[in-house]
Amino acid sequence: MLKDQDRIFTNLYGLQDFGLPGAQKRGDWDGTKAIIEKGRDWIIDEMKKSGLRGRGGAGFSTGMKWSFMPKASERPHYLVVNADEGEPGTCKDREIMRHDPHKLIEGCLLASFAIGAHACYIYIRGEFWMEGNNLETAIQQAYDAGLVGKNACGSGWDFDIYLHRGAGAYICGEETALIESLEGRKGQPRLKPPFPAGAGLYGCPTTVNNVESIAVAPTILRRGAEWFAGLGKPNNTGTKLFCISGHVNEPCTVEEEMGIPLKELIEKHCGGVRGGWDNLLAVIPGGSSVPVLPKDICDTVTMDFDTLRGLRSGLGTAAVIVMDKSTDIVRAITRLSKFYMHESCGQCTPCREGTGWMWRVMERLAKGEAEIEEIDMLEDVTKQIEGHTICALGDAAAWPIQGLIRHFRPEIESRILARRSSSVMAAE
Ligand code: SF4
Repeated sequence: MLKDQDRIFTNLYGLQDFGLPGAQKRGDWDGTKAIIEKGRDWIIDEMKKSGLRGRGGAGFSTGMKWSFMPKASERPHYLVVNADEGEPGTCKDREIMRHDPHKLIEGCLLASFAIGAHACYIYIRGEFWMEGNNLETAIQQAYDAGLVGKNACGSGWDFDIYLHRGAGAYICGEETALIESLEGRKGQPRLKPPFPAGAGLYGCPTTVNNVESIAVAPTILRRGAEWFAGLGKPNNTGTKLFCISGHVNEPCTVEEEMGIPLKELIEKHCGGVRGGWDNLLAVIPGGSSVPVLPKDICDTVTMDFDTLRGLRSGLGTAAVIVMDKSTDIVRAITRLSKFYMHESCGQCTPCREGTGWMWRVMERLAKGEAEIEEIDMLEDVTKQIEGHTICALGDAAAWPIQGLIRHFRPEIESRILARRSSSVMAAE
């Protein structure tokens, strides 16, 4: 269980106390200049040693990502913060921007310095109106106090920060689609390579990081990599924001150690599953893109990248969607299929055609109108999409269906058989 003194986001439920005086009382902007004076290599090395893995879903080492930026280059470097949090079930970055925006802004300065960027763009989901306003207020406060802008924090480093509001497309959460959108074009993912570290925003070296990854950086650099690496589990270090929704008594966003058992997370912070733990049917552990897990796995699973990947699911954005026994699980996954069909940008054939095809079959399965053989055919189609598209949306559309078939095949079959026998009876 995480001790209070190890919490990073101490203002998670702040009552409008997001401004600079409150942030400074909580330790933000303390010794920022001294951290910068330790130099880029020290910062990147410390981030690598902390073991921080990107909090946007992919789980790639943040320090390693920063080290991919060229050391010297003729072209400007950019930091882009992905605040387009659109993954169903996910609302952790929203809480940071709403209650702790100075952690993010200080993190932007330190990360930008480490990668040699004098400018940072925060691309915020357009629907996050209040969070955008809070961020704008906090950015202005940071400028007024000399924390950002020319000679930021008196460090000699010039640094500007811009907030850009998105327009509601899920696909703009994909880093290269986000860059396209930021450049004023239609938000469609780019083919990689080149990767953003080589040619990103305006064709210049760019690092794209998630809000939470950047917002935890100042605390890691202040308290030390060893402290962060001492929390959680090997290769899954530190603390993490979990957002728990669905059939729990008290849905919430909470910071806990990586590797916390799912059952403990739900019982300790959410008042348990509606109707008690035995009433649990299944959990999607990491946002809608990862496969669902049935109750027997949820009984013992721990919440970290490696454990969940080993179970052919994922930590993703750590958005825990809880479903009790009143849930029509086939209908729930069908609803997700419709979401991915709607959000496909249409660039590549397997995704554009496949998401619609999968949704139509899922609809028929949910109504019991499909044939038993179509379950295997559907699974086969998910495998034709997985790994064969420009971006990960194709995988995200395929995986929930694969999880459903893997764990709830009897549910699907029984409704097909029930429908078949009721039709026979009606005919007689
Ligand atoms: Fe667009 Fe889908 Fe292809 Fe991604 S996988 S580029 S969303 S069509």
